[in-house]
Amino acid sequence: MKCSYCQQEIIRNLTFKEILFPLLIKRERCVFCQQKFEKITVPACPTCSKPGWSSSCEECQQWEKRYPDYEFCHQALFRYNEAFKEWIYQYKFLGDFRLKTTFSAEIQEYFSHKKGWLVCSIPLSKDRFSQRGFNQAEAFLQAANVKTIPLLEKKVESLPQSNKNRQERLASPQVFGPTEQTFKIKNKKVILVDDVYTTGRTLFHAAEILRMYQPEKIQTFSLAR
Ligand SMILES: [Zn+2]
Ligand SMILES: [Zn+2]
Repeated sequence: MKCSYCQQEIIRNLTFKEILFPLLIKRERCVFCQQKFEKITVPACPTCSKPGWSSSCEECQQWEKRYPDYEFCHQALFRYNEAFKEWIYQYKFLGDFRLKTTFSAEIQEYFSHKKGWLVCSIPLSKDRFSQRGFNQAEAFLQAANVKTIPLLEKKVESLPQSNKNRQERLASPQVFGPTEQTFKIKNKKVILVDDVYTTGRTLFHAAEILRMYQPEKIQTFSLAR
């Protein structure tokens, strides 16, 4: 079996269960790649997972003022450390599609507790999609066998967020719109998925559209924060 990140061969004995049911063999990272990524542990902001906060962080307090009726709840799995930056660069910007499985085990574990929720990845614009060839969040969800539903479309291309400072990011205009399936979320629970939570701007814009369709609840998820 190969490491789901560096593709080095992993030498280990299969468990009895894995020998009987080879489909159960999960993609995993080698010991070295396992250590590089830091899971977010407590203390972390209870509403956005920002490490180091035991109560609502400053950013969340700002968002709460802007969206007082939105019960914001975001879960991120890993810290946005150097290793994660390197991974996202290789996956998203260099387009190494194989890396969609790097975090499959953790993603599967998280979504196994979300039965009955509708899962939607943050869409790319048509131009960005044809340029990259895949939607990075959709691809890692599918690689982890998480069923998704397209509830949003990205109408216009925003300038690459990485070229903007925090203030510019926060001021960016709404870029999302609903799809022909968005009405289905009425009284349902929805999870919006992005690769990285940076300022929250993208997820709050996305949630703003979905909230008009009266879901029972919206939560958001990202691999890193
Ligand atoms: Zn590895
Ligand atoms: Zn927070």
